[in-house]
Amino acid sequence: MANDGRKPTTTDAGIPVASDEHSLTIGPDGPILLHDHYLIEQMANFNRERIPERQPHAKGSGAFGHFEVTQDLSKYTKAAVFQPGEKTDVLIRFSTVAGERGSPDTWRDPRGFSVKFYTREGNFDMVGNNTPVFFVRDPMKFQHFIRSQKRRADSNLRDHDMQWDFWTLSPESAHQVTWLMGDRGIPKTWRHMNGYSSHTYMWVNAEGEKFWVKYHFKTDQGIEFLTQDEADRLAGSDADYHTRDLFNAIARGDHPSWTLHMQIMPFKDAETYRFNPFDLTKVWPHGDYPLIELGRLTLDRNPTDHHTEIEQAAFEPNNMVPGTGISPDKMLLARIFSYADAHRARLGVNYKQIPVNTPKAPVHSYSKDGAMRVKKVSDPVYAPNSKGGPAADGEGYPEAATWESRGDMVRAAYTLRRDDDDWGQPHALVREVMDAAARDRLVSNVVGHLKDGVSQPVLERAFAYWRNIDQEVGDRIAKGVTGS
Ligand code: NDP
Repeated sequence: MANDGRKPTTTDAGIPVASDEHSLTIGPDGPILLHDHYLIEQMANFNRERIPERQPHAKGSGAFGHFEVTQDLSKYTKAAVFQPGEKTDVLIRFSTVAGERGSPDTWRDPRGFSVKFYTREGNFDMVGNNTPVFFVRDPMKFQHFIRSQKRRADSNLRDHDMQWDFWTLSPESAHQVTWLMGDRGIPKTWRHMNGYSSHTYMWVNAEGEKFWVKYHFKTDQGIEFLTQDEADRLAGSDADYHTRDLFNAIARGDHPSWTLHMQIMPFKDAETYRFNPFDLTKVWPHGDYPLIELGRLTLDRNPTDHHTEIEQAAFEPNNMVPGTGISPDKMLLARIFSYADAHRARLGVNYKQIPVNTPKAPVHSYSKDGAMRVKKVSDPVYAPNSKGGPAADGEGYPEAATWESRGDMVRAAYTLRRDDDDWGQPHALVREVMDAAARDRLVSNVVGHLKDGVSQPVLERAFAYWRNIDQEVGDRIAKGVTGS
């Protein structure tokens, strides 16, 4: 055969084409003809290849694998995905937060750690990060926070002055900023970092008993990090360093894994715990709520098409299966709306029909029509009906993951409890968790960051911010920046 037995190229309609190389012209040297619909199809598709990037978490990649339950925590949850012996297919996407799609993987930033479990009871998503806390605790501030980390209006440049201006006017950011400026702010690879739900979620067992939980995916490869110098060098020499590392590791059969541990708080404890356990800027100390092992997540398959399997992957924290649920964390409650909304804007209303987002469990919903719907619906198209359509099973699947809430409608911060403050946990991180060498690197990282374009009075506020976290570290940072 003329094409060496290879499959013939076709148009998108499956019609074999005559050439991959030549446009249709009047004679070899003449003008191109408008009715060369194959050339036009090629150009038109190309012009439309890019879809809007995520805002934020634009740069990232991911892989497929499975989650296997190794311990019996069935007394805390009835979720099928967490029952002993259960093995579930998963997809993970790792990412940076502030950078654009082509930005370097090694910029200092938290990393996204999003997991989709294709469970027997529908998709369960954990849209986590590699940090156990976050910069703000009220979703009203989230948009402003992200804009302060992205680009200025005038120069279109990122700007440390803008970042520290926001942070120092938002003391609740101190814990996450301390974490970010420390060693874990630039992981060596995605394989060498943990993933945390950060938020508190709910579990419900078969008897209807409720628990508050946090998910900790601890890397089996061990924690490793890059110094600022190493990361800066890599940002120039290999902007896709983390993407390449994950893809190559899986390709050579070196399958990374994480052991999932849970922190579990009895439902009633939340009322009287010494600080608000739903505040996203705080961890639950391990001493109060120790980690309990549940299972292992392993990645063993690379995507074959980044665009359809990773760029169009849609994770959403509202994907909660029976036996799991949300909590009164205000940030989580807002994300329950905003993730699905972002997917509708980026991918279209029928984004759950893109194969990577399609559950392996059967879907019997009443959603209908809309742009790019590809799965057929059938009558009846309304409920209730007497025509044999799906009917909700309130007895089998009651609204179980609930809590009671009372009070007037207000715009207010969380009610303060005895140990609710912004500085105690970052102080413990600096003083009790970091050793002297890690503290030295923290000081050096912050000094370098502040010297890069931060102006007065933001600088003075930054020194006060660090002195609130730790007097000695704050003094050293001030001296490092001002020289006195
Ligand atoms: P623990 O001593 O029990 O835990 C400290 C944890 O800190 C470690 O288990 C490890 O988390 C993490 N850690 C170690 N080195 C670093 C680093 N350089 N940067 C960031 N995190 C690091 O103490 P507590 O549970 O009482 O917490 C004390 C402080 O530790 C907290 O204020 C918080 O800042 C930090 N921390 C606590 C976590 C928690 O969920 N309790 C989780 C992460 C940090 P891991 O085991 O997850 O790797």
